Amino acid sequence: MHELSIAASIVEAVTETVANHPGAYVKEVRLRVGALASVVEDSLQFCWQIATEGSSLYGSALVINQLPVIVHCDACDLDSQIDGVQSFRCPNCGEIAADLRQGRELEIESIEIEDPETDDSKIGALKSIGDHI
Ligand SMILES: [Zn+2]
Repeated sequence: MHELSIAASIVEAVTETVANHPGAYVKEVRLRVGALASVVEDSLQFCWQIATEGSSLYGSALVINQLPVIVHCDACDLDSQIDGVQSFRCPNCGEIAADLRQGRELEIESIEIEDPETDDSKIGALKSIGDHI
């Protein structure tokens, strides 16, 4: 299952990131997922429960921030958001705009932890996880 391997990769990346906070537990993991990353949110949430079991991430929330597809049109010199993923045409002039600016992201935006040792709560951790899959 695609989503299970994604969930496992996130758990691995987060575990590495929080390794220098030994007493901490993870409260929340925020993801940025592009519309073209072909991730089914419900399925990923379900797999999250399985992948985090027995880890320091158990019980943490997975927040998925869906990013729309944005293309750049050379003719108009504009970045535009397109609604569907069927046609990559500039909404302004109708020309094919194949220059993808956003939509394939699959990355960890931030990790929120509870660390009794320090007051740290948020770790900025923009990390692409697409490469691990
Ligand atoms: Zn255009």
